Amino acid sequence: MAVIKANAYGHGAVHCARALANEADGFAVSSLEEAMQLRDAGLTDPILLLEGFFTAQELTYIAEQDLWIVVHAQWQVDILMAAKLARPLHVWLKMDSGMHRLGLSPTDYRLARGQLDGHKNVASMVPITHLANADNLSSDHAMQQAVLFQSTLAALPACRASSLANSAALLAWPQLRQAIGSKQHWSRPGIMLYGAHPIIQSAQTNPLEPVMHFNSRIIALRQLEKGDAIGYGSLFTADKAMRVGVVACGYADGYPRSAKTGTPMAVDGQITQLLGRVSMDLLYVDLSAIQTAGINSPVELWGKQVPANMVAQSAGTIAYELFCNTKRAHFDYFDPANI
Ligand SMILES: *Cc1c(COP(=O)(O)O)cnc(C)c1O
Repeated sequence: MAVIKANAYGHGAVHCARALANEADGFAVSSLEEAMQLRDAGLTDPILLLEGFFTAQELTYIAEQDLWIVVHAQWQVDILMAAKLARPLHVWLKMDSGMHRLGLSPTDYRLARGQLDGHKNVASMVPITHLANADNLSSDHAMQQAVLFQSTLAALPACRASSLANSAALLAWPQLRQAIGSKQHWSRPGIMLYGAHPIIQSAQTNPLEPVMHFNSRIIALRQLEKGDAIGYGSLFTADKAMRVGVVACGYADGYPRSAKTGTPMAVDGQITQLLGRVSMDLLYVDLSAIQTAGINSPVELWGKQVPANMVAQSAGTIAYELFCNTKRAHFDYFDPANI
């Protein structure tokens, strides 16, 4: 189940769904609007709504559109049972096994299964849960959650499939790649599809290829003398004479304003660093060591040379947020073989 919510983490949901159509058995999104964008583009694969429906009215429409739903709370169970629907629905009933975000407690889960198993509005039942700490290799919380999920399911009628693992679980916890309490496992990879490793310590040995290449160019040059400061707030002051490039990219394009001097960036294929404060449309790059660079030199903000994880760390965030925030910049799509 390829997770392409939030416009495929900023990469473009329709493009990503088309690229993944032969690999994935279905797509997960967070809302009806996101699902309809895929249907309107002609995608006929199963689509799972990770938060299910928000109103009874939406549920009627979801049944007409034949979308799959996560049911995570008793109020949804009640609406689902009372509804008159165009067809019975594929239901992924969510258990809160320890994240305490969405899902029914194991006790409430058993009761809800008693209500929904065999109900006329339910075509099939997939137990699902979500892990809070699969990216933390020194915690066994993921395993504790899996054990609780398994033991709760063991006391209930068996289902053909269940769903547990996100990217971090798939990459770091081999035991969790298998089905738990069922024959088949729907894994739910998100961030790994876009080539960012969810576990920062593993980034050095990251086997994944970045999908997003966030690039711009140098549009102005500055020769600073010792003591000259650049940008809003004069945040960076040169301690020697140095050459600086002004890059056409800013926080309005999704480059994080919280990134600090020293954040890595590549110019003309060479690694250098961000200087000073990022503004709305522009930012500054250190060219002291890159004599060849000039007007029009290509700049990689993140991508193959500069992992998004490194920029994220320097900005106090995660690659997920960087990707989701990209906007305004042109989106060009290439065949990976031609990059
Ligand atoms: C977003 C999401 C995922 C994907 O998580 P990644 O960390 O990107 O792999 C899986 N399951 C649920 C319920 C989610 O909300």
